[in-house]
Amino acid sequence: MPTTVKCPICRSETPWTGNRYRPFCSERCRFIDLGAWADGNYRITGGELEDESQPVEESEPR
Ligand SMILES: [Zn+2]
Repeated sequence: MPTTVKCPICRSETPWTGNRYRPFCSERCRFIDLGAWADGNYRITGGELEDESQPVEESEPR
């Protein structure tokens, strides 16, 4: 039975026993993993909404 696992995010060895964030090494990596799918989900629904919020940017003279 392995006592360490590799974090799927940063791939560093992290202890399995007593690790509350397993299989991740820390809360940060666990958050990144959650954010990864959340971001992909957000992009699908957020794309159309942002299209309407910035119509002025192209007509602005530089
Ligand atoms: Zn990590």
